[in-house]
Amino acid sequence: MAEKPIILLIRREMRLHDHPALFEAARSGAPVIPLLIRDDDLEGLGAAPKWRLGQAIEAFSARLAAQGARLILRSGAPEAVLRALIAEAGAGAVYWTRRYHLAGREADAALKAALRADGVGAESFAGSLLHEPWQIATQEGGPYRVFTPFWKALRGIGVAPPLPAPQELRAPIHWPDSENLADWAMGAAMNRGAAVVARHARVGEETALAQLAEFCDGPIEGYATGRDFPARLATSGLSEPLSVGEISPRQIWHAGLRARDEGRPDAEDFLRELAWRDFAWHLLYHFPQMEHANWRPGWEGFPWRGDSPVVERWRRGQTGEPFVDAAMREMFVTGRMHNRARMIAASYLTKHLLTDWRVGQAWFAECLTDWDRASNAMGWQWVAGCGPDAAPYFRIFNPVTQAKKFDPEGAYLRAWIAEGQRHPPDTALAFFEAAPRSWGLSPGAPPPRPLVDLAEGRTRALAAYETLRRAG
Ligand code: FAD
Repeated sequence: MAEKPIILLIRREMRLHDHPALFEAARSGAPVIPLLIRDDDLEGLGAAPKWRLGQAIEAFSARLAAQGARLILRSGAPEAVLRALIAEAGAGAVYWTRRYHLAGREADAALKAALRADGVGAESFAGSLLHEPWQIATQEGGPYRVFTPFWKALRGIGVAPPLPAPQELRAPIHWPDSENLADWAMGAAMNRGAAVVARHARVGEETALAQLAEFCDGPIEGYATGRDFPARLATSGLSEPLSVGEISPRQIWHAGLRARDEGRPDAEDFLRELAWRDFAWHLLYHFPQMEHANWRPGWEGFPWRGDSPVVERWRRGQTGEPFVDAAMREMFVTGRMHNRARMIAASYLTKHLLTDWRVGQAWFAECLTDWDRASNAMGWQWVAGCGPDAAPYFRIFNPVTQAKKFDPEGAYLRAWIAEGQRHPPDTALAFFEAAPRSWGLSPGAPPPRPLVDLAEGRTRALAAYETLRRAG
């Protein structure tokens, strides 16, 4: 049995099940020291994802403690922190789960080389996707750029079953010291919003597994049509636990397959949506520029507008377009936004307000508790029209007709817009509790006036697109 401990570096894998790096570390028979580092990456997170990560760390620490293990917390540059801990604990290897964005890949490659040069084992494992981004390739061996053939290829090769949780985690003779999570103040940037968002968070691996089971037992049937209606509880809500790795996509995939085999055909639509997440990471892996640059060439010339007081009203849910404002407020209160609402809010910003998609992308990265680097970038570029497999630019969502179609009884708008209601529900009022006082908002104020006439905004957007098309 190996005696030298293995350090298990945790970044976004807050689970015992289907965690290949953990599984292999445990299987080796060596003592395992789980470690999470507060590095620049973690410090650079937006307010809401950072708060949510803090919740996940707390829950995972408790879960490890129940197994007789500990999650060691340390701050600093990963290489220096690891070198110090390796020396302290006499560790023989470091295991981690692969990352797929360029900066993460480069940092991990350098870390692997440095550790190996020191004579320490360094192994990286899959764990956060259905497939590694290079495992799905076109006939020519290249990456996919369009979703449907990617989906067909993924569906064709299937998905490996999830791994079980390790039966036992061997403890080291001495547990190294750990910093205190409370001292990291992971919720500091949320201010008073944290208490409001906390009411909506479902945290921890066991909770995520229960949420998956509930969804597959019920709402998954009806998903195909229900998923477009923001007031219905028709989607899984699993993006948040997925973003911090409280659940793995393979677990979700196989639960969906079982639901389909048990006679719930809408499960197939659900699997297809889940594959969009892998597609986003496939794209970001092969085209790292997707995160910051227009994916389609030629869009550099588009007359995007930058940040402005008008954009600030969008951020604050004060555009005067009820569907857009409801969407922005839902995000501020719950940390999440329904997919249809994300499309409407993003379309309004990039088309009716002609704003650069990166401005919206950054605000979502600040406010979403399910923030996912790849899905957010792909989603914004897709809606803006400059992205992979994007909707054509001239397809401009009208928030009023969208509300009529997907919120016919006005339930979503009533849930989130207090102004004008005699007895607004708690959800709508909570926005005023969460919003910074400096915004000076009150539920009793008259509804905000529209920032732009929808027809004029549409005409202006189409004219801007026309100049781009002509220039191309
Ligand atoms: P379900 O409908 O239950 O779907 C199951 C899972 O499939 C989701 O949890 C998610 O992992 C995946 N999925 C579904 N739709 C998409 C999609 N369009 N793209 C990628 N994956 C998808 N999703 C994030 O997880 N994080 C983000 O930061 C994010 N930003 C977005 C920004 C914009 C502008 C847009 C248009 C979409 C964005 N999405 C993002 C995608 C999508 O809105 C969410 O994944 C979805 O609303 C999550 O709700 P759910 O878990 O109930 O989804």
